[in-house]
Amino acid sequence: MKKRLVILGPPGAGKDTQGKMLGKALNIPVISSGDLVRKEINEKTDFGLRFKELTESGNLVPDDFMNDFFAHALSNYNLKDGYILNGFPRTINQAEFLDRYLKERDAIIDLVLFLDVDFDTLVKRLSGRRICKNCGSVYNIYFSPPKVDNICDICGSELIQREDDKVDAVKNRIEVYLKSTKPLLDFYEKKGILKSCDANNSPEKVNKDLIEVVNDCN
Ligand SMILES: [Zn+2]
Repeated sequence: MKKRLVILGPPGAGKDTQGKMLGKALNIPVISSGDLVRKEINEKTDFGLRFKELTESGNLVPDDFMNDFFAHALSNYNLKDGYILNGFPRTINQAEFLDRYLKERDAIIDLVLFLDVDFDTLVKRLSGRRICKNCGSVYNIYFSPPKVDNICDICGSELIQREDDKVDAVKNRIEVYLKSTKPLLDFYEKKGILKSCDANNSPEKVNKDLIEVVNDCN
């Protein structure tokens, strides 16, 4: 049977990479909230315009709006035949909405995968990022450094660190995520569908482990 999955994990845990790899391996669609929102914004739909307005004003996007948006976006999928949700739900309110929505479509979640990575590793993955200001190539000073410090291998230009990737900003982003996601983890734990997965290893190893976890669940 095709699996119905949710991927959770802090920034730097590899949700996008693992979502894509898993979707390919299991032949199920990956439904990424980031991609969906970007698409709506690019196409200037009513949802897109409203979303842009909300985020640019620095407000939190209300649950009701997100729930309407996802009901609209998810209606394009045959959810019964499997899915991987990435980036949604973010709050208990959204999770409860999603439960009702999926139940009505006979497509309830089989498993919630939490990508668990050590705090220090997350910080290195994010704060180690350097980007070529000329060609946009991405490096990581800990895991995939350029041949010469601070110089792009491809075009020889200088590498820069985005403000968002500075250590303090990164630590803050991770802490905010972990704190705000704790209730969601408890919510799925109580339902007995939460599976915490060690995601400290290479993407290939993590993917192999995730496939095993998913195949073991009935
Ligand atoms: Zn370059």
